Amino acid sequence: MRPARQRLADNPPMSERVIPLVDQRLASRVASIPAQAIPATGLLGDALGRPLRDLRISVTDRCNFRCSYCMPKDVFDKDYPYLPHGDLLSFEEITRIARQFVAHGVQKIRLTGGEPLLRKNLEVLIEQLATLRTVEGRPLDITLTTNGSLLERKARSLKAAGLQRVTVSLDGLDDAVFRAMNDVDFPVADVLRGIEAARDAGLGPIKVNMVVKRGTNEHEILPMARHFKGSGIVLRFIEYMDVGATNGWRMDEVLPSAEVVQRIHRELPLVQLDPSAPGETAERWGYADGSGEIGVISSVTQAFCRDCNRARLSTEGKLYLCLFATQGHDLRQLVRGPATDEQLASAIGAIWQRRDDRYSELRASLPPDAAGGGRRVEMSYIGG
Ligand code: SAM
Repeated sequence: MRPARQRLADNPPMSERVIPLVDQRLASRVASIPAQAIPATGLLGDALGRPLRDLRISVTDRCNFRCSYCMPKDVFDKDYPYLPHGDLLSFEEITRIARQFVAHGVQKIRLTGGEPLLRKNLEVLIEQLATLRTVEGRPLDITLTTNGSLLERKARSLKAAGLQRVTVSLDGLDDAVFRAMNDVDFPVADVLRGIEAARDAGLGPIKVNMVVKRGTNEHEILPMARHFKGSGIVLRFIEYMDVGATNGWRMDEVLPSAEVVQRIHRELPLVQLDPSAPGETAERWGYADGSGEIGVISSVTQAFCRDCNRARLSTEGKLYLCLFATQGHDLRQLVRGPATDEQLASAIGAIWQRRDDRYSELRASLPPDAAGGGRRVEMSYIGG
């Protein structure tokens, strides 16, 4: 693996900006087995009383897109040290870890990445996860976030394996804007066909996520809203976030969700809706004429750490408690060692009980680098 290094990233307003890219994947704490067992009762709470309900699993750190806000081309180039295959958790290891999370109360699993559909035989993992039952004995809510590029080909087999629904990322309808944002010249029509295939396969309700960057794709907000209104697909606008250390994030490129709502409301009147589940990331708005709803995810301007019930498992088995974390807890060494399932569950329980992360709420009051701005793990590694 390549050592810590420095790269130059070009970002128009600052001609020479140095982005220190330290390989944060190497920084992790050992997940130790507590002396006192922590039984998996489904009632686990963290230091701020937040339950554990949602597990996001990154199945690959590779992606076939190079969105500048996520995996900029000049950093994620042909020399980038992706994880070697032996470092990745196997499907059996993922399922074993997921089973302990479910015993602690997880009800929803989201597969992500990188681009999860690049992981070979992903359907086999979905089949294994689909056998798990929540503490109440119900099937899990199993979903997947994808850039949609391989969805047309895979929608049916994913559904047959037990996937319930998908969220597709799409940053605009204008082909030139979309091709520029994915930075690999991928056409918008192929993603739209993927969404149709998902709908035909019954992978719904489908959500579409659009990351809004001021000055880049803000003019796509209304065309996207018009396109998906009345389709049964929920379009969600995500504020451009300061995740990772390579995207050259600037606050002036964030378009606050409140402004997104206002712009849509002026042409297509909206009414605010109640949250559908506790800990939901999106604020819901319905079209006043009853023709569907949109969501806004305001992790920059209106943090929602208070209800955060999400844990993230990286591709190589590190548990992250926050999207903005600088360190994970290594579970792989436990699953590859002699630990029993009870011990693994206790180790996870102990980590969650100590959790007090709330980076987004503290962001505004922190000095610029206090939360490790240059040391945060990349979103493509721990999953969105
Ligand atoms: N490849 C898959 C996809 O495109 O959906 C899954 C991984 S991707 C990291 C998950 C989500 O994170 C996508 O919707 C992507 O747009 C979003 N994302 C990545 N970087 C982001 C950023 N800096 N701010 C907001 N959202 C971001």
